[in-house]
Amino acid sequence: MSDFPETLLVHDQPNPWQSVVPPIVQTSLFTFKTVEDMEARVRGETTRPVYSRGDNPTVREFERKLAQLECADDARAFSSGMGAISAAILSVVKAGDTVVCVRHVYPDTYRFMEKLLVRLGVKTRYIDGCDTDTLIAALPGTTLLYLESPTSWTMETQDLPKLAAAARAQGVVTIIDNSCATPINQKPLTHGIDLVVHSASKYLSGHSDTVAGVVAGNAQRMAAINDLSYPYLGAKLSPMEGWLLLRGLRTLPMRMAWQWASTQVLLQRLQSHAAVSQVMHPWCQPGPGAACLTGYSSLFTLELVAGADMRKFCNTLTLFQLGVSWGGHESLVVPALVSRAQASGPNSQIDFGITDRMVRLHVGFENTEDLWQDLQNALAAAHPTQP
Ligand SMILES: *Cc1c(COP(=O)(O)O)cnc(C)c1O
Repeated sequence: MSDFPETLLVHDQPNPWQSVVPPIVQTSLFTFKTVEDMEARVRGETTRPVYSRGDNPTVREFERKLAQLECADDARAFSSGMGAISAAILSVVKAGDTVVCVRHVYPDTYRFMEKLLVRLGVKTRYIDGCDTDTLIAALPGTTLLYLESPTSWTMETQDLPKLAAAARAQGVVTIIDNSCATPINQKPLTHGIDLVVHSASKYLSGHSDTVAGVVAGNAQRMAAINDLSYPYLGAKLSPMEGWLLLRGLRTLPMRMAWQWASTQVLLQRLQSHAAVSQVMHPWCQPGPGAACLTGYSSLFTLELVAGADMRKFCNTLTLFQLGVSWGGHESLVVPALVSRAQASGPNSQIDFGITDRMVRLHVGFENTEDLWQDLQNALAAAHPTQP
């Protein structure tokens, strides 16, 4: 099969009906003709599915495609991105271990570390992802280095080859959240990272109709997940959602290219707008991991000038709808002031790098000039220029 994602994502494994769209194998279990067949399967002499908490053919097809896209030996799908992230981390750490994590990580990943992992006796240190030297200096004695590039909200990138090599030399396992770049724009395993996790609810599904996750990696690390966390945490993906993901993935390369073309035009104009003080996106602020990106996404953060009315900005937008998440067909906006209110309470160690002057935008499939008009109107309402 071709290495080009466009070709890979159009062609499926043959199925018994030769249907051009794979069937949704909506079943909990699979039957055997004889006791001997069943015994052979349990001994690992055959690979046919047994029970859908383990393997399901529709989900397996999604896993196969993700593994190929990420240049991995195998992949495992989960019922959410957090299902994938927690299973990946719990396959690596044990009581007494320490984790080093980039500071501006996805907020619920931070909460997983601080609310749950600490109760299991695993401590996490948070370090600026742009500070490669400090990250490397923290590795001795650490079990896991957890990366996210670009990071949530601040869109900072990390030097993956350098960090992966340093971690490997210290026997530290590396995991990266690659949800924002997608395997179209970044393939972390080719830079030496051990495991890649995704919220498949975002660009991979692409139509805001699925919550799902996936982990991809080499055979040894995937064996640990299959042995320790995947079967017993039980956060398996449903066949219907596996099928929606296969459908969404077919257009992933085209969606990423289209959405970036539109985003680039908007970023260019926003950078010189009087109401905008900062545009946070790897194209504007490349950072240490810029060379790992072969393309860009349509997610970015704006900081408005002091005195601009953030509520008015968000409430004036009409095509950019107020909502969490991103990666679908629709343009979205979420103000940091809402995210911060929801955040981690008074004991929060980190601020996720955001202030109330920031707003995150996702550019969907709408016409670029329509979106620009929407942004211009909202910026004018938030920051009327003096006559
Ligand atoms: C949304 C998101 C997640 C969590 O994924 P879910 O599918 O919502 O569980 C993890 N990482 C990043 C970067 C995300 O944006």
